[in-house]
Amino acid sequence: MLQDDFITLTLQKQKNIALIAHDNEKHALIEWCTEHKEILKNHALCGTGTTARMITDQTGLPVKGYNSGPLGGDQQIGAKIVEGRIDLVIFFSDPLTAQPHDPDVKALLRIAQVYDIPIANTRATADFIITSPLMENTYEHQVINFNKNIADRAKTL
Ligand code: PGA
Repeated sequence: MLQDDFITLTLQKQKNIALIAHDNEKHALIEWCTEHKEILKNHALCGTGTTARMITDQTGLPVKGYNSGPLGGDQQIGAKIVEGRIDLVIFFSDPLTAQPHDPDVKALLRIAQVYDIPIANTRATADFIITSPLMENTYEHQVINFNKNIADRAKTL
C-alpha cells in the first residue's frame, strides 16, 4: 500500500451519533440513553424510525428519525456513513432473533468497518465508548482514499 492509498478524516468534537435497536433491545437502549443523557445531549442524534421516536418520547432527547429498519433505515444510515455524516453508531442488535432485514444489518456493519466508524453492538461496548475521552475531542483516522481507488481501478480493469 502506498501512502496516498489512505486519507485522514477527522471526527469532530460534536459527533453525529446513530442509534438503532432491534425490538427486544429497544428498552435497553432507551435506558442507556437515559443513563448517558448528559453526554448525548451535546451531540447530534439520529436513528432508525421506531427507535428514534421511542428515544425522543421517553427521554426528551432530539433524535432525527430515518425509515424504520426493516423498511430501509439501516441502509439510510449506511449511506450517511459513506457521505461522512455519521461518526459513531450505537446498535443494540438482537443476537437471538432472526431479522427480516438481516442483509441490511450486515451491510451496515460492513460499511462501518470500511469507514473505520466506531460501532457498539453491546451495552458494555457502548459504555466504554460513551465514557471515552475521545467523545470530547477530535479524532483523526485513516480511511481508504476512494478517489484514488477509483482512478487506479479504472486504469487497470
Ligand atoms: P426501528 O428499526 O428502529 O424502526 O425498529 C430498527 C431495526 O430493526 O433495524
